Amino acid sequence: MPHSDTVAVHAGEPAIDRKDAPITPDIAVGSASGYPDLKTLDAAMAEHRGYGRWGTENHRQLEAAVASLEANGLDTRLDAVAVGSGMAAIAVALMSEMNAGDHVVAAHDCYGTTLTFVRNDLSRFGITSSIVDFQDLDAVKRAVTDRTRVLLCEMCTNPLIRVPDLEALAGIAHDAGALLLVDNTVPTPALSQPFRWGADVVIYSATKNLSGHADVIGGVVIGRASWLDAARVFAHTFGPTLGPFDAWLTLRGIRTLSLRMQRHTENALRLAHYLERHRAVSRVNYPALESSPFCARARRLLPAGAGALLSFELAGGKPALESMIRRLRLVRLMPSLGNVATTISHPASTSHRGLDAAERARAGISDALLRCSVGIEHPDDLLADFEAALS
Ligand SMILES: *Cc1c(COP(=O)(O)O)cnc(C)c1O
Repeated sequence: MPHSDTVAVHAGEPAIDRKDAPITPDIAVGSASGYPDLKTLDAAMAEHRGYGRWGTENHRQLEAAVASLEANGLDTRLDAVAVGSGMAAIAVALMSEMNAGDHVVAAHDCYGTTLTFVRNDLSRFGITSSIVDFQDLDAVKRAVTDRTRVLLCEMCTNPLIRVPDLEALAGIAHDAGALLLVDNTVPTPALSQPFRWGADVVIYSATKNLSGHADVIGGVVIGRASWLDAARVFAHTFGPTLGPFDAWLTLRGIRTLSLRMQRHTENALRLAHYLERHRAVSRVNYPALESSPFCARARRLLPAGAGALLSFELAGGKPALESMIRRLRLVRLMPSLGNVATTISHPASTSHRGLDAAERARAGISDALLRCSVGIEHPDDLLADFEAALS
């Protein structure tokens, strides 16, 4: 069994089965294929080949790569469908599984747009939801009804970087005959394999660390082959197709995923230790820190490291934050994450701006909280930038 670093480099490679076959995939931009006769046309249509909405060779290569990364070392056959964004992946996973009258239990710290989709959009189609704190397993159990089809949560939540107890959640889901759906966008398959802990479906926003260079909007849904077949047919009908160039770019990004995540993780841990000791910083959230309530769980579920995302609060509150942001040179303020460059974001102004101050306080998101997506720069330069900005 190859290691996941090796799988990431080779998975989905084009076969060398013709003269001068390229070792790097071509980009197939055609929206439809041509056929010499009715019989070959019929065979292609029967297999959903030959029309761009059903994906091209670039999609198959990306899907094969993500499915084999996710299944690596596990005794499960997984399959994947690539779609046009992380939100499309969530929508396809939920809508292919659920019917009117069904119920979903979602973690209250899911990505904001995920919760908006569950609360405001699925509800229009008769799908009800409960949004609860997944760190409170009794609350999750209480929320489950006999119509619950899906439990939905994230690994390394944003912005407090909480780590859910996937094994216990899978137990609750399976006792209720429901699926555990895990958004594994932040740690990526290089650091976290939710299927190992009982997840039934995993989704990615490929926009973040999976592609890794802030130049793609994309998503992937992964599940056991039998489940995924239906999700793929739904995706091909619903139509949120990923562009072939974006599929190509995402696969290109995956080739260096292991290396990138290793460096992201080393840098994030170093920055977390540095910030934790700094007198201007009142709190640091990073699951690999000894001081984190998630440290033991992170060691088990994220043995290779806790990823690029951390958050921290300044003792001087929002004024201190503003002056620090103005003085950072390398690190830029932007409302996204998962790039090779280090970026910071202000959850109270971005992901959680829809909540009022009291709701934000209940969610543990103060005005002085900053989220940092740590990049792959040399750690000395990164620390020097924060040192200058905090002094
Ligand atoms: C960004 C993000 C999404 C949404 O992905 P898009 O590609 O922007 O649609 C979903 N989940 C998490 C955890 C994210 O960070």
